[in-house]
Amino acid sequence: MYVVEKSKCSGCLACKEICPVGAIDVIEDEEGFQYPQINEKKCINCGKCRRLCAVKREKVDFQKKPITIIGAKVKEEQERMTSRSGGAFMAMADYILKEKGIVYGCKLGRNLEVYHARATNKEEVNEFKGSKYVKSNLKNVYHEVKEDLRNHKKVLFSGTGCEIAGLKTALNEMDTKNLYTCDVICFGVPSPLIYQEYIRFMEEKEKDKIINIDFRDKSLGWSTHNETLVFRKKKVTTDSYAKLFGSCYALRPSCYHCQFTNMDRVSDITIGDFWGIDKENKEFNDERGVSIILVNTEKGTELLEHILDMTNWITVHNENYLQPRLQFPSLKPNDREAFWKDYKENGFEYIMKKYIEI
Ligand SMILES: Cc1cc2nc3c(=O)[nH]c(=O)nc-3n(C[C@H](O)[C@H](O)[C@H](O)COP(=O)(O)OP(=O)(O)OC[C@H]3O[C@@H](n4cnc5c(N)ncnc54)[C@H](O)[C@@H]3O)c2cc1C
Repeated sequence: MYVVEKSKCSGCLACKEICPVGAIDVIEDEEGFQYPQINEKKCINCGKCRRLCAVKREKVDFQKKPITIIGAKVKEEQERMTSRSGGAFMAMADYILKEKGIVYGCKLGRNLEVYHARATNKEEVNEFKGSKYVKSNLKNVYHEVKEDLRNHKKVLFSGTGCEIAGLKTALNEMDTKNLYTCDVICFGVPSPLIYQEYIRFMEEKEKDKIINIDFRDKSLGWSTHNETLVFRKKKVTTDSYAKLFGSCYALRPSCYHCQFTNMDRVSDITIGDFWGIDKENKEFNDERGVSIILVNTEKGTELLEHILDMTNWITVHNENYLQPRLQFPSLKPNDREAFWKDYKENGFEYIMKKYIEI
């Protein structure tokens, strides 16, 4: 039995962390997404998982409207060029590391799998840089955050809105005065299975092994959307995965109902690409990336004060930053079921040709 209606479950897996008897199993479905299921043999019917589930609560009580909104670019050019937007995340991470704190974020593993991890130094934090357009596997990070908070460490946790809601749910009534949360504005998260299929498809096509992926290669310009695949012997830049991502076919079903794609924010600070910067302040856009920073809480304000010196920034006066994912969720394609049926029956190459037209 699912904890919450399957099409709405974001896979934050907070229920697994809060269950007092370990009665939540994690099952991967045929689209490659993880879902929590109640193991009825172990369940003691305490109701905690359903009561606390962020999706079940529709609008979570900790969602807040932004207090301050700025546009920012980190001054350190190399840092900005290796970040997806204006490098706001790295500025926050640098501050937390300086305070001997811990940073959590999303990285690519040795087999290019996408997952959340804990970092205690700059080298490890660097691996969180850049957007990975895949649903991240949260592994055991909620548990690790709890340990760090118990040890009075400052913690910066970054992820999508649903992951921040998951973390807050998992921490429940714990003292979180040392926790800082940062969510990325999110278009939606694609299936890890389709992503692995894409890697296999490209490796077969190029007859070489991929060792790294830049999901949105900024060296081609901030506003372009092409991925660069680093093979052992060459680099290939293409937009097939970008098109697949933008088509919305492979997004997690819950993304079409996302309760975090609006101005009620779930974290202390929200960061994203400042689309609309040309209307707000054209001179500020040098095509190397500008972050929009929404400061949503007092703690977010405190964090912002510590990073402002590391950035060039502007006050935002108009609503030019209001991109779609701050207003409503990505739309579910009418033929999504047909896409997945075709994938199961005819394979990855077939759906790429038929639906993505590569
Ligand atoms: C799936 C996805 C969809 C996005 N959609 C939009 C959008 O529609 N509009 C928009 O303005 N911005 C979007 N972003 C955010 C944007 O691409 C940048 O990540 C953000 O602006 C931060 O950029 P930065 O330069 O500060 O830092 P960067 O160093 O580029 O940011 C890295 C941050 O992103 C986190 N991250 C990377 N991949 C994932 C992942 N798979 N799951 C969870 N967290 C991840 C890292 O933990 C780190 O905090 C999206 C990001 C992701 C991951």
